[in-house]
Amino acid sequence: MALVDPVAIARDLIRCPSVTPAEGGALAYIEDLLKRAGFAVHRVTFSEPGTADVENLYARIGTASPHLMFAGHTDVVPLGDESAWTHPPFGAEIVDGVLYGRGAADMKGAVACKLAAVLDHLAARGGKTNGSISFLISGDEEDVAVNGTVKLLKWAAARGETFDHCILGEPTNPNALGDMIKIGRRGSLNGTLVVTGTQGHVAYPALADNPVRGIVALMSALMAEPLDQGSAHFDPSNLEFTSVDVGNKTVNIIPAEARARFNIRYNDRHTRDGIKALIEQRATDAAAGRVRWRIAWDPSNADVFLTKPGPFVELVAGAIAEVTGRKAELSTSGGTSDARFIKDYGPVIEFGLANRTMHKVDERVPTADLVALTAIYRRILERYFTP
Ligand SMILES: [Zn+2]
Repeated sequence: MALVDPVAIARDLIRCPSVTPAEGGALAYIEDLLKRAGFAVHRVTFSEPGTADVENLYARIGTASPHLMFAGHTDVVPLGDESAWTHPPFGAEIVDGVLYGRGAADMKGAVACKLAAVLDHLAARGGKTNGSISFLISGDEEDVAVNGTVKLLKWAAARGETFDHCILGEPTNPNALGDMIKIGRRGSLNGTLVVTGTQGHVAYPALADNPVRGIVALMSALMAEPLDQGSAHFDPSNLEFTSVDVGNKTVNIIPAEARARFNIRYNDRHTRDGIKALIEQRATDAAAGRVRWRIAWDPSNADVFLTKPGPFVELVAGAIAEVTGRKAELSTSGGTSDARFIKDYGPVIEFGLANRTMHKVDERVPTADLVALTAIYRRILERYFTP
């Protein structure tokens, strides 16, 4: 029997113009493919005031355990400067063995590989498997991510859906396929440091209190010491100032207030509340009762998490080694992803294509990588469902 062709599926998906949050025909295409393979497919639309309605898809075959879930998204980031593309972003052209198009790497390519691997796995077993396989596909990953995976997981859980392991297909490899599995992500937190002074004439500083002096002192203190030394699976936590603002257009006024925005990426040595308390303690110490300050914390839904290495991670790493000959690094680097939501329902790891061209002009993937990633997912399925 001929193998299912992941390149053909990837090209079909790229030709769907699903710039976030548009569905663009991508979910309809997947629905059709999975229905024909015997999946129960649900298309679910979520809404939230102030955001666009977004379509999502959940599909499952089988009722028994174990249950392996494949997660991903079909929305893509905007094209940027379309005239800068060498090949049309929705054209899915193949030139010299490389497939071009928006979403080729992030992550229609990997979604295509998962579909091809699962269809092939089922075909080889007479349309059935020893447990359950599901697809959790979001249409809202690349923008605000409020009407996508977070709600789809809740929706599935309310229907009694549970899974044993999940593979999210984000592009995880820095250079070559097989470089890196993500087994966790750092937490992310934004805040604004506000220092209040007293406005006054620049020629009469004794009658004013310049907040610039205070914010400089607090900022240097917050940047001076590392937040920790890292942990077994994580780099050291880091605080980075991203903007410093006084907003003063005059030359003769001492301003009343100064603000500095910052982002913290924190590891598993901290909880969200713990890292906030640590920063506030350091600010209190630096202020020494002389600087009037406060920190306004932004709401965050990006907590740190780690899927501890164990049999499942070894199974995935083994499949990668078998196909690529590479020993994948187990990493927690990079930004956040939908794994931050999935981890609340079960263990999740991320493995997909190479990430060098994601979100860029001329996003692309070698077709050989699509074939190899399909072979990796196929081996994972074989090992996972072999008693
Ligand atoms: Zn992505």
